[in-house]
Amino acid sequence: LTERLEKALSGFKDRGKLSAEDIKKGLREIRLALLEADVNYKVVKDFLQRVENRALSSEVLESLTPFQQMVKIVYDELVETLGGKASGLNLTGKPSVILLAGLQGSGKTTTAAKLAKYLKKKGHNPLLCSTDIYRPAAIDQLRILSEKIELPFVSATPQEKALEIAERALKIAKDSGRDVLIVDTAGRLHIDEALMEELKAIKDFLKPQEVLLVADAMMGQDAVNVAQTFQERVGLTGIILTKVEGDARGGAAFSIKEVTGCPIKFLGIGEKLDALEVFHPERLASRILGMGDILTLVEKAQEAFDIKKARELEKKLKKLQFDLEDLREQLQQMKKLGSIKDILSFLPGLGKKIDNLPINEKEIHKMEAIINSMTPQERRNPHIINASRKRRIAKGSGTTVQDVNKLLKSFEEMKTLMKQFKSPGKMHGFLRRFM
Ligand code: GDP
Ligand code: MG
Repeated sequence: LTERLEKALSGFKDRGKLSAEDIKKGLREIRLALLEADVNYKVVKDFLQRVENRALSSEVLESLTPFQQMVKIVYDELVETLGGKASGLNLTGKPSVILLAGLQGSGKTTTAAKLAKYLKKKGHNPLLCSTDIYRPAAIDQLRILSEKIELPFVSATPQEKALEIAERALKIAKDSGRDVLIVDTAGRLHIDEALMEELKAIKDFLKPQEVLLVADAMMGQDAVNVAQTFQERVGLTGIILTKVEGDARGGAAFSIKEVTGCPIKFLGIGEKLDALEVFHPERLASRILGMGDILTLVEKAQEAFDIKKARELEKKLKKLQFDLEDLREQLQQMKKLGSIKDILSFLPGLGKKIDNLPINEKEIHKMEAIINSMTPQERRNPHIINASRKRRIAKGSGTTVQDVNKLLKSFEEMKTLMKQFKSPGKMHGFLRRFM
């Protein structure tokens, strides 16, 4: 998914304006990438529709290339689709009950122990219990894991029904002052009526703060259907996606959240008991895009570049009134972006080429110093700068007359060339060529 998206979006890199046609072209590629990553067809369709709306209606950010803009739009939409912010566990109960549900082999029992360990580390006192009476080995499995993490476990007595174990466990949790009860349940290979009923009964009795579906990310689209069924039949408060360290990363999380509307709360990333990770939508979105560094750049550029000023400049350019005052403002904008080489190094594919770029921050400072030493009148009307004024400016800025000449020459060249540019966004990039 990462590679496809990156490739799809890299097509935007060198284009001029973000046109409706460009957007469509990019969306087509993203669509293929998402489908290939096993994201549900309808989910993809809805997602792309939202991205398109956003792209068509979004403000053109002059400081960003169309490619960067598109990445930003896709990223924002991804984060929103994945649930916005990380959502923690609801632990307001006394005790708080966490019920785990899911198909057999999805990782429920392992996840029960992982969650218990995680909560213990956070200062909670979890109690574990298993209602998987159909497979005695399954109950033993959780008992052994509980011993490993040194937490109490409610054993089942022979002939006891699943609901009876749950009832007993809740009483023990209350009596012994445990603040969290984690209940593992039985799974089946397929959605099973009797088991759904049992789960529903346990849920109705326990009134858990959290009903978490444990779903195997490797199942792809099937995991989505399972999630939907559990959501409809039992009602879920969240999802734990397991085995995401496999290559299915991304696709399933994306679809499940969209289809069920339930937040993904944790990711299982391995068989070990600490291979559990709080789910962060921003992180997964970056991972899906595979371009976290670009996002940093995008944020930086947005902060630094004042859109309003750019608009004013655009107006001036159209009237061809660009003067040294405007140039100074441009230079200041560029300085705000921080080290220009740093910024460029965020861009993919530039790598070593950066070292050869004729970018020199000292030059920016020098240019600025020269302009600062001019009078406002000189900035507005550079043609009045004669030899004696040049000497004064050079002295005032700690530069030489040659430097002043060089700046004025560059400025004249810029002015000539700028007539060809209509948008300040382009001009911004263009200015870099002079540094
Ligand atoms: P249950 O039937 O739903 O209780 O599933 P189990 O907890 O018994 O897990 C089934 C298998 O999946 C076991 O071999 C686990 O070690 C493995 N498993 C569980 N979670 C993860 C995970 O996040 N990553 C990987 N690689 N394996 C996992
Ligand atoms: Mg189990």
